[in-house]
Amino acid sequence: LFIIPAFCVLAAATNSFHHELWTGFTMEAGNTLAYSHGPIFFLVIGYSYLMLIGGVLVMIAAFSRHDANYRGQFLAVLVFASLPFVGSLAYVIGFSPFPDQDPAPIAFAVAAVGLTWSVTRQGLLTVVPIAQESVLQNLHDAVLVLDASNRVALANYAFFKWLGIFEPIVGKPASEVLGPWPELLNAVTGELDDSEVLIDHPRSRYVDVRRAVVTDERKRVRGRVLVLRDINELRLADLELRDANEQLTAQLSTIQDLQEGLREQALRDPLTGLYNRRYLEETVGRELARAQREGIPLSLLMIDLDRFKSLNDEHGHATGDQVLQWFGDLVKTKLRPGDIACRYGGEEFVVMMPSAPLTVSLSRAEDIRGSFTQLVRTASNNRLPNVTLSAGLAVFPADATSASELRRCADVALYAAKRGGRDRVMVYTERIGAQSFRGAE
Ligand code: GH3
Ligand code: MG
Ligand code: MG
Repeated sequence: LFIIPAFCVLAAATNSFHHELWTGFTMEAGNTLAYSHGPIFFLVIGYSYLMLIGGVLVMIAAFSRHDANYRGQFLAVLVFASLPFVGSLAYVIGFSPFPDQDPAPIAFAVAAVGLTWSVTRQGLLTVVPIAQESVLQNLHDAVLVLDASNRVALANYAFFKWLGIFEPIVGKPASEVLGPWPELLNAVTGELDDSEVLIDHPRSRYVDVRRAVVTDERKRVRGRVLVLRDINELRLADLELRDANEQLTAQLSTIQDLQEGLREQALRDPLTGLYNRRYLEETVGRELARAQREGIPLSLLMIDLDRFKSLNDEHGHATGDQVLQWFGDLVKTKLRPGDIACRYGGEEFVVMMPSAPLTVSLSRAEDIRGSFTQLVRTASNNRLPNVTLSAGLAVFPADATSASELRRCADVALYAAKRGGRDRVMVYTERIGAQSFRGAE
C-alpha cells in the first residue's frame, strides 16, 4: 500500500530526468493543460485499480456475509469509497459529466460528504461489532464456534488459553483441534447438549459444556456454538464435601459401634459376661407384653448358688469368682435364641425363656442344674465336688400376669427349693406355694 505510491511520488519528482510518468504536456482549447501519460502512469493506475477492485470485492463479500444490522454500514462504505475510483476512471477514459472538468476532485468531495453523513447519522463506526468482539474475547467462559461441517469458525481467548493451543485453528476440523481431548470432542458430536467434561491438560479442570445449534431462517444447521464454563472449584468443593461426608459417615459408624459397645458394657456384668439386673428390668416388661400379644408362654427361672458364703470362706473369694464365671460360661452354652440370662445380684441369676412352656423350661432348668455341678467338678479337678444351685420356676400366664408377680412367684419357688434341701429346681404352684422337683441323680 505504501511502496507503489511512494514510488509514484518519486517518479513525479524526477520526471524531468526520465519522462516516464508523463512524456510532456500540451495546451488545449479553453486553457486546459493536457498531459501525455508515460508507462509509469499506467503501471501506477493499473495497480491502484487492482487494489480498488480488490477492496470493493472484499466489501461485497462482507456485505453478503453479515446480517441486516451491518449491511447499511458496508453499503455506505462501498458506495462512497467507490466514488473517487469512478471519478478517476472517468478521467482516465476521457469521459467527464462536467464539461472541461476533471471529475476526480468532485468525486472525492462527494465521497467525503457521504462518509461524514454515514459516520454522524448512520452510525458507521458504531462500537457494536467492536464491542461484541471485545466481549467475546474477554469472556470468562471459553467459546468455540464451528461451521456446518464442524470446522472451527471462531474461538475466543479463553478457549486458546484453557487448552494451551498456540497455533491458529480457524478452518481446521474440530476432530483435529479437539483430538487430544476426546471427551470434549464427544461433547461436540455426542447426543447431549449439556455435559460435564474433565479437561486433563495442560491444566486439569472440570468444565460444563453447553452446545447450541445455529440455524438459519430455513432451520438449516449452519454451525454449532460451544460454551465451556469452568466449574472446577465447584466440582472440587463438591468432591471435598463428598469426602468429608464419607469420613463423617465412617466416624459416625465408629461412634455408633462404640456407643453400642458402651451400652453393652453398661448392660453386662463384667465377671460373668451375662446381662445385669438393669437390663433385666428393662426387658422383662417388654418380653411379657410380647408374649401376651403373641399368646405364647414365658418362663422365668431364678437361680441361687447354694452355700456360696461357705465356698468363699473355705476356698477364698477368687475361687468364688471362678465358680461364678463357670456358671456364666455354662449358662451361655445353654441359651436358645430369644433367651435372656442375667446376673441378678451376688450369686443370684435369672434366665428368661420366651415361648418356653413349663415342660420345656423345667427340663432346661434341670439341665442347667445338673450340668453346673458336673462342670464345677471337672473344671476344679474335683476340688469342689459339692457346688450346687437351687432354682425356682414360674410361667406366664399360668402363674402370674405381671412382671413383678412372675418374679415373686419364681422367688417363692426358689425359697421353697432352699427350704427343701437345696440342689433342686422347684416349680411354683398356687396350692402349696411351690412344688418340689428334683432330677434323678
Ligand atoms: P444359700 O445356699 O442359702 O444361698 O447360702 P449362701 O451362702 O449362698 O447365701 P448368702 O446370701 O448368705 O451368701 C451369698 C454370698 O455370695 C455372700 C457373698 O460373699 C457371696 N458373693 C456375692 N457376690 C460375690 C462375688 O462377686 N464373688 C464372690 N466370690 N462371692 C460373692
Ligand atoms: Mg446362695
Ligand atoms: Mg443368695
